[in-house]
Amino acid sequence: MLKKTDPSVLQSYFEDSSNLQGGHADGLFLPENDKDIQDIAKEGSSNRLPLTISAGTTGATGGCIPFGGWLIGTEKLNRIIEIDDRNRIAVVQPAVSLEVLDKELKKSGLLYPPDPTETTAFLGGTVATNASGSRSFRFGATRDWVKRLKVILTTGEILDIKRPGPLSASYPSLLTHYQMPAVKNAAGYYSKPGMDLIDLFIGSEGTLGIVTEIEVGLISRFHDTFDIIAFFPTENEAVDFAFEVKKHEALTLEYFDHNSLELLRPLYKQIPSSAGAAVYLETEINKDNGSTYLDFWAQILKKHKVKLEDAWIGMNNKQKEELRKFRHAMPESINEEFKKHNTVKFASDIAVPENSFREMFDYYNSELEPISGRIFWVKFGHIGQQHLHVNLVPRTQADIPLAKETIMRFVKKAVSLGGTCSAEHGIGKIKHDYLKEMYGDQGIAEMVRVKKYFDPACILNQGNVFPKELLL
Ligand SMILES: Cc1cc2nc3c(=O)[nH]c(=O)nc-3n(C[C@H](O)[C@H](O)[C@H](O)COP(=O)(O)OP(=O)(O)OC[C@H]3O[C@@H](n4cnc5c(N)ncnc54)[C@H](O)[C@@H]3O)c2cc1C
Repeated sequence: MLKKTDPSVLQSYFEDSSNLQGGHADGLFLPENDKDIQDIAKEGSSNRLPLTISAGTTGATGGCIPFGGWLIGTEKLNRIIEIDDRNRIAVVQPAVSLEVLDKELKKSGLLYPPDPTETTAFLGGTVATNASGSRSFRFGATRDWVKRLKVILTTGEILDIKRPGPLSASYPSLLTHYQMPAVKNAAGYYSKPGMDLIDLFIGSEGTLGIVTEIEVGLISRFHDTFDIIAFFPTENEAVDFAFEVKKHEALTLEYFDHNSLELLRPLYKQIPSSAGAAVYLETEINKDNGSTYLDFWAQILKKHKVKLEDAWIGMNNKQKEELRKFRHAMPESINEEFKKHNTVKFASDIAVPENSFREMFDYYNSELEPISGRIFWVKFGHIGQQHLHVNLVPRTQADIPLAKETIMRFVKKAVSLGGTCSAEHGIGKIKHDYLKEMYGDQGIAEMVRVKKYFDPACILNQGNVFPKELLL
């Protein structure tokens, strides 16, 4: 197994898409098989050597960034082990990226439905964060598609965990009692009566073990899709439209507020000048609805007074790719914005129950409008699951505390409405306070108990999910 200590090599592992600075490590292991990982785990445990797992380094919460110890770079574990067309499953090593898997599946007309936006992410990273994407509106998150995991613990033990396989049957003492919100959620360890053991590992942000094999479910690729970006004069009209769409079957339902459109306008001068908000909708055309679907959506768009001549339509692949790029330009543009202001970005990842969405939405506006002079902000994202990303960019360094306080107020409000502080990005090293708002000291203590069971030396992915000081 290769080991590296050259600082210039290590440096490239100290950044993901969070703003977390100051990462450092003494070295990097590059395992090529389970035996290598068992050796690393045993060496780490006997020497109390902190180990941080690194995958595609696209995470949004600093989960893969080490603060001491050694890195485990998973990139050599990048084999597609099997694609079984008949049973519609794929078995992969953790460093297969979403884009590589998709390219391979295309050949047999299959699709892995979870579609996190950043396709250079590795399957291992997406399992560890329970990532989701715009099509989670229809297909759920990564959790819903993972059937089996092979996980190596820091004790060196190998677990082969299948679904179904109740946690209560194998580890009854590890049942937890805190209650997860009934919304899309990636905050903290999974906890539900009757849950499967595998669900404890999915979304545990690499704190319980190293995933070395993943079996996922697949579906047939779509016969065809029809995409549209519809523009509305006001935010309320766009939200009304989105809520109407939720009553029907769609693949993707995304929202862009006025500031998001302004941010994208230099790249997309064709955004109508009257647009106050937009909704991106992707629907499936199948053999049954093919002849009527256009009429169907045209009626709904008309009902909501969308000017069809202003809407952007994706009928062929080229048009769809243009619309996809527009949607993907949002996170990248906001990252450019904070670099321009030489500040940092504060990003919320909140989801709330459907009947609380409008209250949360109004709360965002009532808190954000008065501070517009000091903070640039955008609201965008997965309105289909009541999950908007509100990103704040302080205009000067002096306004960083204000941005921080504002996000904390959003988290408190969301929790009071039965929502989550993190619907898809996880807690990582930067959202510990938010998790505490959700589950309190008692809930966090239960998670720490689980962590100590699977990683008794407490060396793996220290600082993810909760502060490492709680493990002392
Ligand atoms: C432009 C952009 C758009 C994004 N859009 C989305 C989106 O739509 N939805 C979404 O959910 N996320 C999104 N993200 C965030 C990111 O892509 C996801 O969190 C992704 O799951 C991270 O995967 P990764 O391979 O990059 O993992 P990394 O960032 O390398 O690691 C993430 C975490 O997983 C752990 N880990 C990695 N591999 C393993 C393993 N084999 N065993 C155990 N633990 C492991 C790491 O230690 C770390 O804690 C976006 C990021 C960017 C930059």
